[in-house]
Amino acid sequence: MDYDYDVLIVGAGGAGLYAALEASRTGKTAVLTKVYPQRSHTGAAQGGIGAALGNVEEDKPEWHAFDTVKGGDYLVDQNAAVILAEDAVRAVYDLENRGLPFSRTPEGKIDQRRFGGHTRNFGEGPVRRACYAADRTGHMILQTLYQQCIKSDVAFYDEFFVLDVMLDGDTPSGLIVFELATGQIHMFKAKVILFATGGFGRMFKITSNAYSNTGDGPAILARNGIPLMDMEFFQIHPTGIRDMGILITEGVRGEGGILYNSEGEAFMKRYAPTMLDLAPRDMISRAIMTEIFEGRGIRGTRKIDDYVYLDASHLGRAKVEEKIPDIADFCRTYLDVDPAEAPMPVQPTAHYAMGGIPTNVNGQVWTGEKVYPGLYAAGECACVSVHGANRLGTNSLVDLVVFGRRAGQHIAEYVRNAPQGRVDKDRARWWKDRIARLKSAKGSHPGEIFDSMQETMMEKVGVYRTGSEMEKAVSSLQKLRLDYEHVSVHAGAENFNAEVQTVLELGNLLDLALHTAASALNRQESRGAHTRDDFPDRNDGDWLKHSLSTLKDNQISFQYRDVDVHKWEPKPRVY
Ligand SMILES: Cc1cc2nc3c(=O)[nH]c(=O)nc-3n(C[C@H](O)[C@H](O)[C@H](O)COP(=O)(O)OP(=O)(O)OC[C@H]3O[C@@H](n4cnc5c(N)ncnc54)[C@H](O)[C@@H]3O)c2cc1C
Repeated sequence: MDYDYDVLIVGAGGAGLYAALEASRTGKTAVLTKVYPQRSHTGAAQGGIGAALGNVEEDKPEWHAFDTVKGGDYLVDQNAAVILAEDAVRAVYDLENRGLPFSRTPEGKIDQRRFGGHTRNFGEGPVRRACYAADRTGHMILQTLYQQCIKSDVAFYDEFFVLDVMLDGDTPSGLIVFELATGQIHMFKAKVILFATGGFGRMFKITSNAYSNTGDGPAILARNGIPLMDMEFFQIHPTGIRDMGILITEGVRGEGGILYNSEGEAFMKRYAPTMLDLAPRDMISRAIMTEIFEGRGIRGTRKIDDYVYLDASHLGRAKVEEKIPDIADFCRTYLDVDPAEAPMPVQPTAHYAMGGIPTNVNGQVWTGEKVYPGLYAAGECACVSVHGANRLGTNSLVDLVVFGRRAGQHIAEYVRNAPQGRVDKDRARWWKDRIARLKSAKGSHPGEIFDSMQETMMEKVGVYRTGSEMEKAVSSLQKLRLDYEHVSVHAGAENFNAEVQTVLELGNLLDLALHTAASALNRQESRGAHTRDDFPDRNDGDWLKHSLSTLKDNQISFQYRDVDVHKWEPKPRVY
């Protein structure tokens, strides 16, 4: 069946919903989502949204912008960081006005807590900047924005899996979509398309990300010739539940939680004497891995699950239950550990994609050389770039609401006079045939390819990286992509055939894993989350630039784009 809209938003997380809310003011808008909107991964965000409200101590957007630039190891575009920090204040009050139930101070203001890398007065010490709703902040943002979209008559197509975009020259004209319930292929026409498909942590073995985080948006655009930006920078969060990767929010350390090694030592004093356990994530992940490599980790049952302790028991039961109730439940359920009484076993877990679809500050897809009119991206799948080489905690939720909203507002203006491009019916037929071929072929099951990709990425493109290992990662991913051509779908059903979707998602992940590994091999320096044994120093002379990667014929090639450093000169990054 064919559908006709002005604006199509792919993704119902915080970024997609905010963009839809704004775009729907002037354009007939639909949101397509492969999971139900309320199950989008924004709902998993626990700890907080950063904004310099100054409710519990002095704070300024300028300090927030500076922390963002320094936290991202100076690969952040500084014009975008300034917009992020200034708009964050407005965005938080806007969410409050729309009904978001923030946690409160005794006087009734929005309460704020500490998070890693957020400081007062350009690095003097930690500041309380994270606004939060207990440890359910993302869940509350998602519910609030979804209700507002319903109120604004945005149309929702739930469990509609977007396969491809149609471009008429550089302008989008529609989407090809697989409907899970029926197995039908649909064509959606539109003048404007925004991708807000979230992250792609599922390329790693240990990850905090949901099964749905498979990077479909960036993979689709990359297959259509749009380069991806800064793919080498993937954040490994320091505190995932041992062996499982489920996140223990940084808010635990914000409330006073402390990391310990097997000798009972609070080891962060050796790595970040000023910020201690509230240093940025890349530093703490390296510190934990160094403790483990040097024999001061706690031995897991297998090599892959050596860990350290995160202790919050000294905070007392009342504070644990009030400030981190969901975390306490996770630990009791999955570990049989009560954090009010005992320390939590944690290890680094793949968490956040700093790279993705390159955009300008209005959310338009922009390679640095050209803008694609009518094509937008926002949220974790986009790269504005406000996270640079390492994102600060709480800045993703800010990114969603600031740049999701800006993109939506830009769309609302653009769509008034936007042309409808030519749609390509052959493309829809091609996808129909592709899925029929996948179901009729007698190929192998994709499980082994999945495992092999995740292990390769975790072991060779993880916290510490080295050239020779990444070369092996690139060639095994290239081989896995060739093997992938021979997989098939074993379930024959038309209705609710989730295996079709899973196999296609794997194809997307393999493409992005190759972009990530090859970009990491290409960047011959250490910066933020990208730490190389063979190039241990940051090298601004050669590498203060964004990388843009293109995948063609199983090979990655590169272009570069300047970083905006107009406000703060890059300096060594110490905490
Ligand atoms: C456990 C956890 C805790 C976190 N805590 C915090 C925090 O405290 N503070 C903070 O700032 N950040 C936090 N983050 C990061 C933050 O939550 C995410 O970066 C952010 O929510 C991503 O939002 P999004 O709108 O970009 O995408 P998502 O919320 O991931 O939504 C993606 C949407 O795209 C749709 N989609 C994807 N592919 C397709 C397709 N092919 N077809 C149709 N639809 C598709 C999905 O259905 C979904 O609706 C946390 C992340 C995790 C994993």
